[in-house]
Amino acid sequence: MSQALRFQGNVIHRPPMKPKKISFYSLNLLELQNLFESHSLPPSGPALLYNWHYKKKQTTPCLTDLAKVSINFIRDHFDFYLPEIEMVKESSDKTVKFLLKFRDDLKVEAVLIPFNHKYTLCLSSQVGCAMKCSFCYTGTQGLKRHLETEEIVGQFITAQRWLSHHRSGDDKILNIVFMGQGEPLHNFDAVKKACEIFLDRRGTGLAPHKITISTAGYLPGLERWKKELPKINIAVSLHSTIKEKRDKLIPINQRYPIDEVVKFAQQIPEGRTRFVTYEYLLIKNFNDSEEDAHATGKFLQNSNAYISLIPFNPFPGASYERPLMSEVEHFKSILDTYKVPTLIRKTKGDEILAACGQLNTKMN
Ligand code: SAH
Repeated sequence: MSQALRFQGNVIHRPPMKPKKISFYSLNLLELQNLFESHSLPPSGPALLYNWHYKKKQTTPCLTDLAKVSINFIRDHFDFYLPEIEMVKESSDKTVKFLLKFRDDLKVEAVLIPFNHKYTLCLSSQVGCAMKCSFCYTGTQGLKRHLETEEIVGQFITAQRWLSHHRSGDDKILNIVFMGQGEPLHNFDAVKKACEIFLDRRGTGLAPHKITISTAGYLPGLERWKKELPKINIAVSLHSTIKEKRDKLIPINQRYPIDEVVKFAQQIPEGRTRFVTYEYLLIKNFNDSEEDAHATGKFLQNSNAYISLIPFNPFPGASYERPLMSEVEHFKSILDTYKVPTLIRKTKGDEILAACGQLNTKMN
């Protein structure tokens, strides 16, 4: 059995019903170009389509500049199906949480996190998650299935359309973080292709540093990231450098110890000055002591690390607690002595359970 499969827990609920047509949102530009070429269609079509749907954000079919033969081909062979918005919740700080339903009725959440009129979109990569981290609401569901590329891109398009209807014209998505449901590196192929679509300058045109993939430390996926997506930012969920504690928080630490994970994450492509983000979840009386802070500072000093401290976000049935803000600040002050740049992540959207680790498809 492959390693990936061994993590899947109560896998595969029901496979998505395969549409007869090809989803437009499933193809990177090269694949679209190859498809056009194999059907002897005018080669200008793919870039025009990318420009129309991704750059100009048009919702109707591209009928203007496209050759008649291409229009007919698109009509007969493509669909533009998007996930349905089952529910939307807006919090007073303008965070927006979507519950999105796919063709097979399985659901995920996507969250728009505001910074003035700009948004970071937090995407899901799987329905549920196989990692079973003890502090994470999503982990309580187990893995139902991986998302397809078009389901990841579909979250983006759906959130973007919602913004254009409900917020001012200036509001736009500037960053993407794979910090929603699922372990993105465990669904590498679909996440990679979605990133290729987001990055293409003829479409959405996001810069690689505007996309961050967060991982629990799934080493086989990190190995692929280093070879295939090295320009995309990586964030590692660290949460403890002490083995017994990290094993308890993130069970895959037993198979892929943090030392090996960090060694990989630090292999930044030459000629680039970039930081790897380490997320450190602070849980009261578990990993928030001075000893924990010193161990973390020693572990990350003199490396290209940047620490994002996340006070634990509670969810129904959670057995952990969030430390006081003064305790979080004290932890940071110890890290500061090791000269590791550290920020305390401001909790947004927690009144609608949209903050990190609070995502579950019940939308309570
Ligand atoms: N599987 C990936 C991405 C999903 S979670 C990963 O593990 O990184 C995104 C971030 O939220 C991770 O750092 C995760 O550890 C953190 N997180 C999960 N549950 C949380 C909770 N209850 N409170 C605060 N952060 C949490």
